[in-house]
Amino acid sequence: MRSISIFGATGSIGESTFDLIRRAGGADAFRTVALTGGRNVARLAEMARELRAEIAVCADETCLPALRDALQGTGIETAAGAGAIAEAADRPADWVMSAIVGAAGLVPGMAALRHGGLLALANKESLVTAGPLLMQTAAAHGATILPVDSEHSAIFQGLVGEDIATVERIILTASGGALRDWPLDSLARATVAEALAHPNWAMGQRITIDSASMFNKALEVIETREFFGIDPDKIEVIIHPESLIHSMVGFHDGAIMAHMGAPDMRHSIGYALNWPERHPLPVARLDLAQIATLSFRAPDMARYPALRLCREVMRIRGLAGSAFNAAKEIALDHFLDNRLGFMDMAAVVEDTLTQLMAETRLQMDVITLDDILQADHLARVRATESARRRSAA
Ligand code: NDP
Repeated sequence: MRSISIFGATGSIGESTFDLIRRAGGADAFRTVALTGGRNVARLAEMARELRAEIAVCADETCLPALRDALQGTGIETAAGAGAIAEAADRPADWVMSAIVGAAGLVPGMAALRHGGLLALANKESLVTAGPLLMQTAAAHGATILPVDSEHSAIFQGLVGEDIATVERIILTASGGALRDWPLDSLARATVAEALAHPNWAMGQRITIDSASMFNKALEVIETREFFGIDPDKIEVIIHPESLIHSMVGFHDGAIMAHMGAPDMRHSIGYALNWPERHPLPVARLDLAQIATLSFRAPDMARYPALRLCREVMRIRGLAGSAFNAAKEIALDHFLDNRLGFMDMAAVVEDTLTQLMAETRLQMDVITLDDILQADHLARVRATESARRRSAA
């Protein structure tokens, strides 16, 4: 029986993964090793009972008594805290979903890779902060990483049977998010609720805001560079409001392979679950005659400073990805708490990168997990200072 673990089971990607596992036979078809959540222990316990997990872990230690109560008498082990999540990732499983949001997903993902097996990687922050280390760890332990981000799954599928040397360009599609048609001068006043109204995708709160600011796309550009080893100059971003083409690969004979499908994450999760086979998936089928037209436009760089900043991060490399992601997470926290304006998020990230370039060595060649975690910490401190200054101004 195939063994699985889901990190971030209670989130948007975690729920979609759970749905596919349940449809594929649930506890009768899979042995579930670990399920983890953050604070939503009621849902975590429900999932753990249904899949008869060996262990359920919540990130927030204050939630442990409630998790214990909810699983009393089931024989399912319980634990809490970041260390316990990392320990749960140290329990071997054949297929592991990495769907914790943010830099907190890195350590468990690294631990899972050390057991070989297959890591379905939704946590793009891992590749942004520690791309080379993650890929080296996978290679050293014979593990396979499959991308779950719809764009990267699309690129991966477009490259099956192809020689990477024949790739001329990767075209990442972006919906443009909730605010894409707002006048540029009104973006600074956008509220959290307005930025959360995504036109096409139902996702977690943080990635939905990142979609409106294009920080999500900026992370994905770096993710593309790290996962596929593509030169940054070959990675393009195009706004495609319908979100039906998930990304494209352009080859040196001029051909472009585009991956199309309904905007439903169960497609790329299911692809990673069934890979290298394709199994039927419960996603809507496209009616192309009904859709009739697809549209594209170049992103306005004044509207999306994140797209400029990610180029700088790829130029610096080293610890810049870690600093970029951490500063972005802090800026997003401040925006979500109404302490920072929408456009100030990019300003905070830029302040942080500039300051860290001056006071530390971001541009390192050989990087350890400790270096990455230290850069992450320092960037959070500097980004918090910048956010406070900007909100006081
Ligand atoms: P959600 O916010 O919906 O879920 C995040 C999950 O992580 C939840 O299980 C949450 O627990 C848990 N969590 C939160 N904070 C911590 C922490 N500090 N330590 C451990 N666990 C924590 O996020 P999404 O599912 O939207 O996104 C997950 C990842 O997948 C992100 O990296 C995102 O960029 C990526 N992704 C998401 C897509 C989507 O469609 N949603 C598309 C492509 C990529 P709880 O809810 O119990 O507090």
